Amino acid sequence: MVYRAEYLWIDGTEPTAEIRSKTKILADGDEPGIWGFDGSSTNQAAGDDSDIVLKPVKSFPDPLRGGDNILVMCETFLPGDMSPHPSNNRIKAREAFDAYGSQEPWFGLEQEYTLLDPVTAWPAGFPANGFPRPQGPYYCGVGAVKIRGRELVEEHTTLCIEAGLAIAGTNAEVMPGQWEFQIGPVDTVTVGDHIWVARYLLYRLGEKHGVEISLDAKPMPGDWNGAGMHTNFSTKAMRETYESIELAAKSLGEPGKPEEHLAGYGQGIEQRLTGAHETQRYDQFSYGVSDRGASIRIPWQVAKEGKGYIEDRRPNANADPYMVAALMTNTVCAALA
Ligand code: ADP
Ligand code: MN
Ligand code: MN
Ligand code: MN
Repeated sequence: MVYRAEYLWIDGTEPTAEIRSKTKILADGDEPGIWGFDGSSTNQAAGDDSDIVLKPVKSFPDPLRGGDNILVMCETFLPGDMSPHPSNNRIKAREAFDAYGSQEPWFGLEQEYTLLDPVTAWPAGFPANGFPRPQGPYYCGVGAVKIRGRELVEEHTTLCIEAGLAIAGTNAEVMPGQWEFQIGPVDTVTVGDHIWVARYLLYRLGEKHGVEISLDAKPMPGDWNGAGMHTNFSTKAMRETYESIELAAKSLGEPGKPEEHLAGYGQGIEQRLTGAHETQRYDQFSYGVSDRGASIRIPWQVAKEGKGYIEDRRPNANADPYMVAALMTNTVCAALA
């Protein structure tokens, strides 16, 4: 029997890269090899020199098609000298992990997203031409008035589990129509692979349900929470001593580091990190125990037990997890080395 491999890759869309995919039919026993695509249609090449190379790097069972079918995460390369395409951020995560893997970095990412009506682009649960009651009852809420989209969320969780992703949990968020899933704890490269595959599965369910999935960092201006991708991080040393936890939090505030990190934390960071809605302002840096208004939160159990992990609350929902994981690994592991 033939089987299908869905090749996935990250495109060159500015300012926020998107995931693309296409299908290859393979004979039984054949491996999914090197392939290519038209980079002039993905903001990755000019029309007169358009071929970009797709190199499979990891595969997962395809829970949408079932059977022997697979999803294949790829990296992109230039055909001439096989150098990485400039949009290939996975290589940054690989280089960081190659440099600091001996510190055993772990990530848990909280991916928030918003369900939108595909025609009006208005969030699910917002009445047409109007607004729902103010935030308060929606976070982890239950019931028909508060909750929209749970069926899709449950289906998504099942697909993630069947694909072998390290999905750790889900919850309804503070703004109506907003949800979250968590991936982790896994290493610097794996977390990006799993977030991107989980995003792909979410978009595919959006097609099926006729719902737009938005990773916009501030889908509703005004008194509504934005959407982030809180990044929980630890190394072996941080899982053992509080001294390392404090060193890690401090390292992210060293001169130049806040700017360097924010530049890789997704489009529209100033709109989301306002200092309100459980954020620190984008132009200020702070860390604190249990502080959801800080850039970096040290969870209370971590302070109590004297070991564990830190939470960087700044990355946007639309950030590239490869970039976020590379930055975090490089900054903190260099400080702890
Ligand atoms: P919050 O209270 O901020 O909403 P969540 O429960 O949504 O937190 O997410 C916490 C994340 O932290 C999970 O993805 C979990 O896998 C991850 N995590 C737990 N322990 C560690 C650790 N030692 N290192 C890195 N990530 C961790
Ligand atoms: Mn969470
Ligand atoms: Mn959240
Ligand atoms: Mn969080």
